[in-house]
Amino acid sequence: MIKNIMEDIVGECLTEILKDTNIKVCKCQKCISDIMALTLNHVKPKYVSTKKGEIYTRVELQNSQLKVDLMDTIIKSILIVARNPRHNQKIDKIQKIDKIEKID
Ligand SMILES: [Zn+2]
Repeated sequence: MIKNIMEDIVGECLTEILKDTNIKVCKCQKCISDIMALTLNHVKPKYVSTKKGEIYTRVELQNSQLKVDLMDTIIKSILIVARNPRHNQKIDKIQKIDKIEKID
């Protein structure tokens, strides 16, 4: 079975970053998926077909410039989603309520 190991690695790095970042970003499934997709579109996929290949890629990635670049890309994606969450229905409702209050 072929899999893009970057999907797992991005997911793990993202969890790590979100744990100790002070960027205010929604952490719902939708936004997390958005951040993942944005990041994965910017990083080269790494396909592996065996567990051995997966371990090799993980070791290779550790302490490398690639990992630094990956973390950087993830943070940029978090910032994009933080600024434009795709589910602003709730925010829209709040704004509408605000407007009604102002008219009153
Ligand atoms: Zn969200």
